[in-house]
Amino acid sequence: MEKIYFISSNNKKIEEIKKMFPSDIILLSLKDLNWQDEIAEDHETFVENATQKVEVVLSKHSNNAFADDSGLEVEALNGAPGVYSARFAQKNDSLMDNVDFLLQKLRNKTNRKAQFVCCIVLFWKGKYYSFEGKIKGQISLEKKGDFGFAYDCVFVPDGYSQTFAEMNSTQKNTISHRFIAINKMLDFLNQNQINIKNDDKDT
Ligand code: IMP
Repeated sequence: MEKIYFISSNNKKIEEIKKMFPSDIILLSLKDLNWQDEIAEDHETFVENATQKVEVVLSKHSNNAFADDSGLEVEALNGAPGVYSARFAQKNDSLMDNVDFLLQKLRNKTNRKAQFVCCIVLFWKGKYYSFEGKIKGQISLEKKGDFGFAYDCVFVPDGYSQTFAEMNSTQKNTISHRFIAINKMLDFLNQNQINIKNDDKDT
């Protein structure tokens, strides 16, 4: 039996990822390590940030672990906010919420194309692996829906008429960037016949 840790302190993400895991796999999060510290995300790429999250935790706990770094890339903003998605408004000395700031930046823009990107870095038995998921869509003209978090209320995935925040968690979690990346990782673990079931929370 092996253990696997998910390195995140974002409760919404932990919730989403737990729902995506098969019921026979028990996933342990940073909370289970009693980890309180903020982990810096100061690199220019999703893969570097995700690797950094894994490395920080591995420096204290030698376990199999994975982390994700994700964000929204908007075509008319040359890929911004990207790795700065969580602090888009603050970066520009604005007191505005990130989503309002995005809508303001896109005011008068007809190109509303965007994509969510999720990069997962897995540390497994001494080696690093990465898995990427992307979903393309459009930024709506206004916020819609109460579910989800952050940019969900303005992201309408291609082929749908609702924002992620208007969908229930099951709908979002079966098409999202995170779901695509997680599935690639689960396929990898399955192909390697890795059984990661464990409910023992010691470190
Ligand atoms: P991370 O926790 O460093 O990966 O930050 C990701 C940031 O990107 C979040 O704080 C959100 O602003 C944005 N983001 C990533 N995934 C999603 C999503 O599924 N819905 C809405 N916003 C997201």
